[in-house]
Amino acid sequence: MENSKIGRRFQDKVAIITASTQGIGFSIAQRLGLEGASVVISSRRQRNVDEAVKKLTEQGIEVMGLVCHVSNAQQRKNLIDQTIQKYGKIDVVVSNAAANPSVDAILRTKETALDKLWEINVKTSILLLQDASPHLTKGSSIVFISSITAFEPPSGLAMYGVTKTALLGLTKALATELAPNTRVNCVAPGFVPTHFAEYITSNPIMRKALEDKTPLKRLGTTEDMAAATAFLASDEASYITGETIVVAGGAPSRL
Ligand code: NAP
Repeated sequence: MENSKIGRRFQDKVAIITASTQGIGFSIAQRLGLEGASVVISSRRQRNVDEAVKKLTEQGIEVMGLVCHVSNAQQRKNLIDQTIQKYGKIDVVVSNAAANPSVDAILRTKETALDKLWEINVKTSILLLQDASPHLTKGSSIVFISSITAFEPPSGLAMYGVTKTALLGLTKALATELAPNTRVNCVAPGFVPTHFAEYITSNPIMRKALEDKTPLKRLGTTEDMAAATAFLASDEASYITGETIVVAGGAPSRL
């Protein structure tokens, strides 16, 4: 979207977005930043953090970048501590990190892969919010990034899909737990051609099959996901909590 058409819904707000140096997380940081937020971005590699900070700064966005592997307790704590030291509060947390270490059928997935899926995709989201919760402002907002695969986990992405289903439940449970001060919602993206989905979307036959079976006849963009996330995180969604918006071009999405 042209920058001139973007509003200022996040003026004076502070937003933490995990796993945000590229792909969907980066676009979310960019969107919230262009709408006035001070954004705190992070990922595992310093070089990626530095590059992303540079790109956002060049667009006039107030940004702090830190290394934070979401599995590292010290780095998670540092992410929150540094945010509070620099900006004094947290208005928005977007929990975006995920891994898909196995394409095996669920009953053939190794225990180490099962542990990693649970840890990165679900557990660390909870642990980060445990650290963040004392600093969440009244009217704050959390958004989890789930997936269309949460609704009907496809083979090859089955256990990954199940962890994404867990985020739908986590959204409901935390919405109740954190009400009325903090809203908790979720975005479930369809397929987006990022590094994460490259093994599917860079295969022309698989990509065409995905486009053909999507009613809107295209894959998603990172900006599509950022727009939905920004809506849920903003005061425009101030009477919405515990909900998931599916952003998947009309792909079936029923549990
Ligand atoms: P992506 O383009 O591959 O970007 C992943 C980002 O996460 C990078 O900045 C990466 O940087 C960082 N990262 C990876 N592992 C991390 C970890 N353990 N801790 C901290 N940062 C980490 O991925 P994406 O497609 O945008 O995916 C983002 C989210 O969207 C995920 O939750 C994914 O499940 C969800 N999603 C994606 C699709 C899709 O089709 N792309 C569809 C549905 C849902 P470093 O390498 O520097 O860590």
